[in-house]
Amino acid sequence: MKTPFVTGKELEAIISRYPTPFHIYDEKGIRENARALRAAFAWNPGYREYFAVKATPTPAILKILHEEGCGCDCSSEAELRMSERCGIVGEDIMFSSNETPAEEFQLADQLGAIINLDDLTHVDYLEKAIGKIPEKVCCRYNPGGVFTLGETREGFQVMDNPGDAKYGMTRAQMAEAFTRLAAKGAKEFGIHSFLASNTLSNDYYPSLARILFQLAAELKAETGVHITFINLSGGVGIPYRPDQKGNDIAVIGEGVRRAYEEILVPAGMGDVAIYTELGRFMLAPYGHLITRAIHEKHTYKEYIGVDACACNLMRPAMYGSYHHITVVGKETAPCDCKYDVVGSLCENNDKFAIDRMLPKIDTGDLLVIHDTGAHGHAMGYNYNGKLRSAELMLKEDRSVEMIRRAETLDDYFATLVW
Ligand SMILES: *Cc1c(COP(=O)(O)O)cnc(C)c1O
Repeated sequence: MKTPFVTGKELEAIISRYPTPFHIYDEKGIRENARALRAAFAWNPGYREYFAVKATPTPAILKILHEEGCGCDCSSEAELRMSERCGIVGEDIMFSSNETPAEEFQLADQLGAIINLDDLTHVDYLEKAIGKIPEKVCCRYNPGGVFTLGETREGFQVMDNPGDAKYGMTRAQMAEAFTRLAAKGAKEFGIHSFLASNTLSNDYYPSLARILFQLAAELKAETGVHITFINLSGGVGIPYRPDQKGNDIAVIGEGVRRAYEEILVPAGMGDVAIYTELGRFMLAPYGHLITRAIHEKHTYKEYIGVDACACNLMRPAMYGSYHHITVVGKETAPCDCKYDVVGSLCENNDKFAIDRMLPKIDTGDLLVIHDTGAHGHAMGYNYNGKLRSAELMLKEDRSVEMIRRAETLDDYFATLVW
């Protein structure tokens, strides 16, 4: 059972001020989760979460997370500029990008960000772009092959194909990059890797940590460089389905600590800081897409048409992702109707749910689409001339603030030449 973080009564008051559809975020949930993450890694004095800005690039969110001690993980000019305007600069920024234009390396360097290199050729490219090699620099590792976790959960197996992923350097390239960076003056080195997405396993980070800690010890022995941080990046998942079990961040932090004690400390590397770059885990459960049923249609299937569409939440259309739906006011009603819940795009994949058992829905009902806080509004687009929705913040005192207005037709027309 998934319960919305906002009540039906609160929603009625909110929609009298802000028309549907919109995304709404839960400040209390965001802060509590960020604190639990910090506590889980408190054993590591240099620990830092760099929130993956691409998941929810909205200043109010970045500021809340910054207050909770998080930096920003940026991957583009816009994300760097947003971070800067939020007052988040210097080593509070990790710049993890790929196929990077020279101007973005220049901007990252001007802001004092920690730069993460995705490829061996970027050693020379970066030096040419910014006229030097930074003293502190990171390289992204890709071990290749197939990554699997021993531990599996009912109906869910962690498996990913790093060998098919465009990111990162091979083992041999990592050694070469470190050697060349050191020769050009780098003093502090980091290792970054991202092997699997949306993992529902307390073992993902510990397993990744073992691989990276081992690599760090080897690279230190081979190249003699001083490795000062290891970035486990993103990938810790959330239970989108009500029958899935969520990760326990305290168990995850403890698992990483054990690997640290077993591998890094004996290698004389007990000063290494752990960084993370979580997006989904930080925000997804703390966002809802609120939409209204505006039509019902009975043809070969039963359809409920809503005023949101894939432009507001692309994940179901793009990945077939499950997002739980609560019908407001019918939380305890039996789920005895089978519906496709659909948006209005001229695309038959514009379906928030397919063959979903829900309570009987009437036109006018409000629907809460769960877990839209990360990669939700952020992946929005304008197909069919759809305008991107507003984002609201449910604050800790239960008041509501608009943190991004809805697009208007003037915004949509602004780039047109008539
Ligand atoms: C997308 C991304 C993240 C965040 O991933 P989540 O699955 O949302 O945790 C972190 N680091 C990098 C480099 C990314 O591209």
